Amino acid sequence: MRGVWAVMSDRCEIVVIGSGFAGSLMARVLAVQGYDVLLLERGTHPRFAIGESSTPLANLSLERLAARYGLSDCYQLAAHGRWMETHASVRRGLKRGFTFYRHHPGAKPGDSRLADERLLVAASPTDYVADSHWLRADVDHHFVRQAVDAGVDYRDRVEVTDARISDDGVELRATRGGVSSDIHADFIVDASGPGGFLARQLAIPSGLSRTRTRAGIVFSHFEGVRLAHEVAPHFPEGPYPDDHAAVHHIIDEGWMYSLRFDHGVTSAGFVLSPRGAALLPDAARSADEKWAALLDRYPTIAAAFGDARAIMPMMQRDRIQHRLTRAAGRRWVLLPHAYAFVDPLFSTGIAWSLRAVERLALSFETARDGRRLPELGRYEEMLAREADQIDRMVAGAYEAMAHFDLFAAQAMIYFATVSYAEVRQRLVAEGERHPAWSGFLGVGDEVCDPLPRASLRRLLRITRGAGHEGSAADRESFATWVARSIAPRNVAGLADPARRNLYPVDLDLLVERHALLGMTRDQLVAGLPALRGVAPERVRSIALAIGPTMASARNAGPTLNAVGSGQP
Ligand SMILES: Cc1cc2nc3c(=O)[nH]c(=O)nc-3n(C[C@H](O)[C@H](O)[C@H](O)COP(=O)(O)OP(=O)(O)OC[C@H]3O[C@@H](n4cnc5c(N)ncnc54)[C@H](O)[C@@H]3O)c2cc1C
Repeated sequence: MRGVWAVMSDRCEIVVIGSGFAGSLMARVLAVQGYDVLLLERGTHPRFAIGESSTPLANLSLERLAARYGLSDCYQLAAHGRWMETHASVRRGLKRGFTFYRHHPGAKPGDSRLADERLLVAASPTDYVADSHWLRADVDHHFVRQAVDAGVDYRDRVEVTDARISDDGVELRATRGGVSSDIHADFIVDASGPGGFLARQLAIPSGLSRTRTRAGIVFSHFEGVRLAHEVAPHFPEGPYPDDHAAVHHIIDEGWMYSLRFDHGVTSAGFVLSPRGAALLPDAARSADEKWAALLDRYPTIAAAFGDARAIMPMMQRDRIQHRLTRAAGRRWVLLPHAYAFVDPLFSTGIAWSLRAVERLALSFETARDGRRLPELGRYEEMLAREADQIDRMVAGAYEAMAHFDLFAAQAMIYFATVSYAEVRQRLVAEGERHPAWSGFLGVGDEVCDPLPRASLRRLLRITRGAGHEGSAADRESFATWVARSIAPRNVAGLADPARRNLYPVDLDLLVERHALLGMTRDQLVAGLPALRGVAPERVRSIALAIGPTMASARNAGPTLNAVGSGQP
C-alpha cells in the first residue's frame, strides 16, 4: 500500500478508523467529495472477515453510491453477472435468495420432513442480476485499493493508542512499528466494527440491555461441502437451486448458515442461542468438539458437512451481540457495525452498513456546501431505532424456531418488509427525500414499523418464552395474522399457502399489485427495467462529470470547521 510512515502528514480533515468495506467506502466517497481523508487500519489486507452474504437492499445502496459519486466498480459489484464480467478475480458466491430447512435430531437425509419443512424465497429473477456472497478477504481488499486510487491516505498496521475530541478538533496518538505520531483532524469516523475504537476512547456506555437476542457462534470456511440435491434428491424443484442462496439450517440449538462461494469454498457456522448452547454435551468445549457434537446430532447436516474439511482453524465466540448508547457526537460518528450488531439471521449487516455510508455521505455533502460540521442527529436517531427493529425481528425469529410453521410465517414479515422497500426505492420518487433516509427494516413505515414488536409479543404468548410450539390452531392463527398484517405491503405474493413455501420472483404478480405502491399498472410496467439497477450509461456519465467536481471541491480549501458546527 502507498505511503511511508515517516512522511505521514499529521493533519487531515477526516480520519476514518478501520478499513473493512464500510470504512474504505466511506473514506473513498469523502475523498471524492473533496475532503482530505486519512484511513487507518490496525491489520493488513487481504485478511479474513466474517459477514459475507449480501442482499438486494445492499446492492441498491451500492448502485446509488455508484451513480452519485461515479464509482463504477460499485455498480458492477451490485449484480452477480456484472461482477463476473468485470471483477472475476474478486471472489464471490451466487446468491439467488434465502433457503431455510428445519432439521430434527437423529433424522436421516431421506426423512420426508426435510422437504416439508423447507422455505425458499428468491430475491432475484436470474443469476445475472442476482446478489452475491462477498469473500471478504477479496472484497475488502478491493475497496481499500479503490479508496487509495480516489486519493485517500491509507495507513495499515497502525495502532491508535489515544484519541481526544474537543470543541476544536480531534487529536490522535498512533504508533506503527514502534514509532509514534500525532494526528490532528476535524472529524473522526469509527468504522472499526465490534473492536469498538471510539467506544473505548470515549467510554461510551453499553446499550446491550436493549438487545433481546443473544447467541454464540462456531464457524470456519470449508471445502468439500455436499450440495442439497446430492443430500436430498427428493426435494420438489424450487425457484432456484437450493445452494445458490444464503442457506439456513434451523435446529433445536439455534441455526446454521452455509454460504457457498463460486470457487467451491463454503462459509458455515452454527449460531447457538443460550438455551441451545446448554443442550450441547458438557464435554464439547472447543469449537471442533462443538462442531462434531452438532453434526453427530443432525445426520441431515452431517450428510452435507461430514466429509468437508475446514480450510482454517474452527473458531468460536460466546456472544456476537453488541450495542452502544451513542452513535454520533459533534466531531465523531460510528458506522453501524461499530455501534451495534444483532445476528447474521436475515443478512442485515452489509445492507445496513451501506445505507449508513450513503447517509453520512449525504450529510458530509451538505456540510461541505455549508462549510461546517455535519448535522448527525437524524443519523443517530435512525440507527438506534433500526438496531431495535433488527433485534425485534430476529428475536421473533428465534422464538418462532420452536416450530417451522411459526418460523416460515415470521420470515414473511422480513421478506414483505424488504421486498416492498426495494421495489418502492427503485420505482417511486420520494420527492426531496433521498431514499437512503428511508428507515431500514420498515422503520417509520406505518404498516411495517409495528410488525416485529407485535409478532414478537404474539410469539412469546405461544412459546411462553421457553420453546413451546403451541397448538396447531395457535400456529395457524399466527400465520393468518401475519398474512393479514403484511397484505398492504405484500408486493411479492408472500404468505400464500398455494406456493408451498417456494417463492419465485413474480413480476406479473407485482404488476397486479401496482396499487400497493400507489402506481397505475402502466406506471409500474414502465418502471420494470429500473427494478434491477440503474443503467450503466448513467454511472459512466456521472463518473465523467465527477472529475471536475472533485477538483473544484479540493481547490475550495478546508471545508469542515470554516464556519462552525451544524450541531448544537
Ligand atoms: C457471525 C457474523 C456473521 C455475519 N453475517 C453477515 C451476513 O451474512 N450478511 C451481512 O450482511 N452481514 C453479516 N454480518 C455483519 C457484517 O459482518 C458487518 O455488517 C460488516 O462486517 C461491517 O463491516 P465494517 O467494514 O463496518 O466493519 P468490519 O468488517 O468489522 O471491519 C472493521 C475493520 O476495522 C479494523 N479495526 C478494528 N479496530 C481498529 C483499531 N483500533 N484501529 C484501526 N483499525 C481497526 C479491523 O481490523 C477491520 O479491518 C455478520 C456478522 C457476524 C458477527
